[in-house]
Amino acid sequence: MTKNQNKTKKILFLPGDGIGPEVVNEAYKVIQTFNKYNGNLFEIDYADIGGVAYDLVKTPLPEETLEKAKESDAILLGAVGGPKWESLDYKVRPERGLLGIRKELELFANLRPAIVYNSLADSSSLKPHLVSNLDIMIVRELTGGIYFGEPRGVEVLKDNTRRGYNTLVYNSTEVSRIAKVAFEIASKREGRVCSVDKANVLEATEMWREEVEKVGKYYKDVKLSHMYVDNASMQLVREPKQFDVIVTTNMFGDILSDTAAMLTGSLGMLPSASLGEKQKNGKQYALYEPVHGSAPDITGKNIANPIATISSIEMMLRYSFNMSREADILNVAIKSILDEGYRTQDILGEKNLDIEPISTSAMGDLIVKELEKYL
Ligand code: NAD
Repeated sequence: MTKNQNKTKKILFLPGDGIGPEVVNEAYKVIQTFNKYNGNLFEIDYADIGGVAYDLVKTPLPEETLEKAKESDAILLGAVGGPKWESLDYKVRPERGLLGIRKELELFANLRPAIVYNSLADSSSLKPHLVSNLDIMIVRELTGGIYFGEPRGVEVLKDNTRRGYNTLVYNSTEVSRIAKVAFEIASKREGRVCSVDKANVLEATEMWREEVEKVGKYYKDVKLSHMYVDNASMQLVREPKQFDVIVTTNMFGDILSDTAAMLTGSLGMLPSASLGEKQKNGKQYALYEPVHGSAPDITGKNIANPIATISSIEMMLRYSFNMSREADILNVAIKSILDEGYRTQDILGEKNLDIEPISTSAMGDLIVKELEKYL
């Protein structure tokens, strides 16, 4: 540990609904393992969000949760939502809790890695050699663009036809701050950023391209390229390993990150991070969560894959706490357990049908035991 890592770090756990509490519990074991060897470096607190919060206080994002979130150094969320709350008014649905916290903390940068562990290359719908050891980072702008632009709406015209419209709008500061996040990440990886736009037909993304270029001039060690979104979607399934870091708009990122997710074969393996702007006092809000939802079909069965959530802790160590050594060894521990052949049911793969799947808690225990070897 370096000197500035000695301060106790406050982590807020928001387990949420469905399998959320089950997978977050395995992340808890990981944090406590680091605590055991690092002198209680992490302090964990809990709060409610989503359906569970609605049941208690009739709102999916209680004020107390938001306050705790603002006081924490990093947040880990399990999942929100489920059939029980589907008939509720849109404004108090569990998913509003998640959107609300992202908005309140201004989490503008969404980091979605698409990683394929060698031993799981068979689970992808692409040929194993195309995805084995794949490691892409998609940096998606999360608070601007067409999803938020005004004017928007649907109107009825004089001739009774209807007209629907949305506005793609970015200002240069929004573009440069997300570009900066992408360049910073790339400079710690392979040093390549591909900015994805549609500059040939959308002026707003022509400006995006120019602003990304300007930021790129400050990162001499990072190679910048540009790609139109239609080509990028094709290249992602043709030869995904050509990418290191992709930076793109809210809508393009929404689509491309789901495509990249499918390259990896399982939702249960994918972590994510949403980061806010670094403040003058050095504080930066950050929320980490698995990409998957609350999986009501397997809730309470102790069969959910906890790796997406445990990998979210890996991202937290790397991006919130600058603890890349600890992040690396957690990654090695996950990899070793997979290499040894342990699988939850979702990652059995066609060739492994004769393997007995292990439970959520057994997977967590194995990873922790492996982690202890390196601490
Ligand atoms: P989902 O991700 O919950 O589940 C899709 C499928 O993947 C299911 O078959 C599920 O069993 C499986 N799956 C998901 N995570 C898994 C894991 N860790 N291990 C093993 N299998 C796993 O998506 P859905 O069914 O479309 O949505 C269910 C609920 O979750 C809905 O209420 C939805 O709104 C909500 N949701 C929440 C989030 C979030 O909290 N970030 C994201 C997506 C969906």
